[in-house]
Amino acid sequence: MDAKKLVEIFEKISEEFTDKLLLNLSWKGTLPVVENVEVEFNEDKIIAFLTKVNLELISLRLINRQINIPRLITNFKNKGNYLKLLTDNLEAGFWEELAKKQKVKKEILALHFLFLRRKMLRELKDLSLDKGVNQQNCPTCGASPGFAAITPTGERILFCLECQTQWRYYRLGCPKCGNKFHEDFIEIHPEGEEEILYFAEVCKKCGSYLKTKNLKNNEEKINPNLEDVESLFLDYLIPKKINY
Ligand SMILES: [Zn+2]
Ligand SMILES: [Zn+2]
Repeated sequence: MDAKKLVEIFEKISEEFTDKLLLNLSWKGTLPVVENVEVEFNEDKIIAFLTKVNLELISLRLINRQINIPRLITNFKNKGNYLKLLTDNLEAGFWEELAKKQKVKKEILALHFLFLRRKMLRELKDLSLDKGVNQQNCPTCGASPGFAAITPTGERILFCLECQTQWRYYRLGCPKCGNKFHEDFIEIHPEGEEEILYFAEVCKKCGSYLKTKNLKNNEEKINPNLEDVESLFLDYLIPKKINY
C-alpha cells in the first residue's frame, strides 16, 4: 500500500468519527493551547475511536488480529498518560514495553496512538482561532509547520501536520530560524511544468525548506496532510537542486 493511499484512508477515519468529545476542555487563553489547557479524557469515546481504527487496520490487512482496546488503555495509563501523549514526551522504550504486555507489535500500537493523538490535537486546534500570527511554531501544539499555502492575494498560511492548525506568517520569512532577509530565499519549481501548483521555498541561512501550494482562490480549503503526500516529488527534487 502506498503512502498516499494510507494517508487518505486515515484522514477518512478521522473525519468519519464525528464525535468531538474525546476531550473535555478548559483553556486559559494563552498559547500554545496544548500547554495551557486543562483536559479530561473521555475514555469511552477514546476506546470507541481506537476500536474503529483497529477494525479499519484489520480490513486493510495491515494487522491480522483484534486488539483488546480496554485492556490496552489500562496498560497505557499504568505506564504513561494521555497528557504525555498530547505533549509527545513519552519515555524511550515506552512502546516496546507496552507492546510486550499487550502481545502486539510496537509499530501497531504506536500507529493506533498516533491517530488518537492527532484526533485529540485537532479538537484543541479549534480553540486557537485567529491567534498565533507570525509565530514560528504551531500555536496549538508547538510543532514546526509542515506545509504552506499562498493565497491569490499574496498571504502566506502555514499548516501543522500534527493538528492541522493554520496560521498566517510573513510572506518571506523562515519559520525555522526566523530569518527575514529577502535575498536568502529561493523558490524551487519543478522544471517545465508551470501548471503544477506546488513549489518549495528554501532558506539559505538554515538550509530548511517549506513545501508550498499556490491556492486558486482565497476560500480554498486544503488538507495539509494529503497535500504533503501529493507533493512528495519536491522532497526528492530539492536535495538534487541544492548543495547543502
Ligand atoms: Zn499543531
Ligand atoms: Zn531559515
